[in-house]
Amino acid sequence: MIDRLDLNTKAEDLRERLGEDVNSPVDIFSLACQVDQLTLVYYPLGENISGMCVANDKVKLIAINSQMSYGRQRFSLAHEFYHLFFDDASKFNVCAKTFDSADEIERVADQFASYFLAPYRSLKEKVHSICGVRNPSMQEVIELEQYFGMSHLAMLWRLVSEKYLTKAQLDQYSDNVVFTAKGLGYDDRLYKPSPAELQKRTYGYYLKQVESLREKDLVSAGKIEELLLDAYRDDLVSGEDVESGGTIID
Ligand SMILES: [Zn+2]
Repeated sequence: MIDRLDLNTKAEDLRERLGEDVNSPVDIFSLACQVDQLTLVYYPLGENISGMCVANDKVKLIAINSQMSYGRQRFSLAHEFYHLFFDDASKFNVCAKTFDSADEIERVADQFASYFLAPYRSLKEKVHSICGVRNPSMQEVIELEQYFGMSHLAMLWRLVSEKYLTKAQLDQYSDNVVFTAKGLGYDDRLYKPSPAELQKRTYGYYLKQVESLREKDLVSAGKIEELLLDAYRDDLVSGEDVESGGTIID
């Protein structure tokens, strides 16, 4: 039996540990880069795997499937946060895309992810401010997922679990999402995968370690280059800010 109250409390506690309040939408990728010794890898993991987490005494690594939508990537990262911070049973997890896994730990991690992106009270207040006492319309579901930065399917499942929607409405609201969102004035970023050139990238601790080797002059320039290329960071090999041309970006 999944203890939702406990998971919501864990999600709110982790938000606070990472310096966030318990109500606002979060920039979860930026938070991940601040987690001590965590390396974050974006990689095309195919159609069925949403993410992976390796956590032991030597390595803390989360991989996110960059072929999935940005909203789903945000949800997957929150799911992997559960494995990283709260899952003592396994130090190596490969996580499937499905929301109705037979594995209870996977369902627990999904529920945690949902609360991390949209804490219980915060969602409740937002639903009431947008819909009053009515069930949300398709347009209002989109407004909610845009506000909290959650994939459409993840938001639908959450609204069903909180009894704001029926399962029949979930099926009914599953089509024409991008078209409806664009018609409401939103851009379609939440619903699209990472651009092809950013689908393989490493961020976080690994790069800090490479930079430390460079600063201390412990290895050759060729070795630094090799380490960066291994991490799909050819953009850093030149040692110059090529993308901005070295100019100040505000
Ligand atoms: Zn998992």
